[in-house]
Amino acid sequence: MKYYDKLIFELSKEGRQGFSLPQNSWNHHLEELPDMLKREKKAALPEVSELDVVRHYTNLSNMNFGVDTGFYPLGSCTMKYNPKINEEIAALPGFRNLHPLQPASTVQGVLQLYDELDRALSAITGMSKFTLNPFAGAHGELTGLMIMRQYHMQRGDWKRTKVIVPDSAHGTNPASAAVCGLEVVEVKSTPQGTIDVDDLRPLLDDTIAGIMMTNPNTLGLFETRILEIAEMVHACGGLLYYDGANMNPLLGVVRPGDMGFDILHLNLHKTFSTPHGGGGPGAGPVGVAAHLAEYLPNPKVIRQADGTYTVTGNETAAGRISGFMGNFGVLMRAYAYILRLGRQNVRMAGPLATLNANYIKEELKDCYKLPIDTCCKHEFVFDGLADQSTGITTLDVAKRLLDYGFHAPTIYFPLLFHQAIMIEPTETESKETLDGFISIMRHIAQEAIEHPEELRTAPHLTPVRRLDETTAAKQPVLCYADLARS
Ligand SMILES: *Cc1c(COP(=O)(O)O)cnc(C)c1O
Repeated sequence: MKYYDKLIFELSKEGRQGFSLPQNSWNHHLEELPDMLKREKKAALPEVSELDVVRHYTNLSNMNFGVDTGFYPLGSCTMKYNPKINEEIAALPGFRNLHPLQPASTVQGVLQLYDELDRALSAITGMSKFTLNPFAGAHGELTGLMIMRQYHMQRGDWKRTKVIVPDSAHGTNPASAAVCGLEVVEVKSTPQGTIDVDDLRPLLDDTIAGIMMTNPNTLGLFETRILEIAEMVHACGGLLYYDGANMNPLLGVVRPGDMGFDILHLNLHKTFSTPHGGGGPGAGPVGVAAHLAEYLPNPKVIRQADGTYTVTGNETAAGRISGFMGNFGVLMRAYAYILRLGRQNVRMAGPLATLNANYIKEELKDCYKLPIDTCCKHEFVFDGLADQSTGITTLDVAKRLLDYGFHAPTIYFPLLFHQAIMIEPTETESKETLDGFISIMRHIAQEAIEHPEELRTAPHLTPVRRLDETTAAKQPVLCYADLARS
């Protein structure tokens, strides 16, 4: 029996407590509030001892999977390297205890960090200036598209209301365009998985605001015709937006600015050391080419001639997209990460991520169907098992991996393949970890032939077995009291 078989939620015993408040200097207990300040009814809080609380939450946390417990090859959105020291840096009291409304003169160090991170990200991406204000990748996309729209409107170019998005794009791309009030036009991919330039050409006219691209795209393939695409889009008066959520394969090797992109966002919570999952916090800084810098949202940090920093705004900015200036703890982690790696080591991430992905791909492509058999970048996509006669699906394979202690890859995305399994090992995993994953994936392919039932009912060893995912998403049971009732 495992600890989670006996995990119970109702631990409360009337009168038990896990704290004691001290007396104040007049020998009164702090609980002895004047009646007028007390609530009428006691709050319905669980009454538990300190040990009960600590054990309960520690046991719950052990039921989670995380990068600190195992390999996490989640394609596209994977958690890259999150050094623990950056957590300590983000928690430095001098930064942590600041208030966002403090006058600029009292937070010069913070503003300096903001400005220097802007410069570092600009150097890495080939952009001219960044805003660090957006809170997530999708928030960065919205900000970038607002800048794109502002640019056209400032020029009196009102007709440009359409954004071209490839069919392989991350779901947030068309969603952000729609939120920004722009119309989404889809461009097809070739059988080789890159943008079909012949399909793109007739779409380009004076109603196009721009194109959103990911490069390498979500199949892990580099868009080799990017310079030609950039020229075509610019020639029609449109701008190029780069989804840089997963910049690590390119760090220090290729710069989106040199590929012709005008606007981009980065996900600091994927590529630059902030752990993600559970919905945040994140940061989605947006960088732009020089001719768009004036449209970056307010507030802006400006370095003055005397070396001091001010926080200002300007009129042509694409509005304001956050209350203050971003998730500062996330910015600090990224800053520390970049400085610690330095110019030399930043450029090792891409080649190592690429090597690891290709290694897994080559070792597994006889057991799993590889629809596009070429050299990939940091990730690649299988289309289910090579032998599909067993009826075992990608979902079954993903669930079975959990039994062997691996997080499942991204599945059923991108939408180009029906049984997509998208694998991204990242640059920091050892050869032993990759070999362990490969041997389990091969073992599962064998099980699919010999014991398919075992796979259809997997996982068998996790705290929660296979769920009805639709009901879990649409009618989640979020309170332990509901759990006890159901
Ligand atoms: C994760 C991701 C996003 C969205 O980022 P969020 O921070 O989750 O909003 C956008 N594009 C790509 C390619 C991504 O992987």
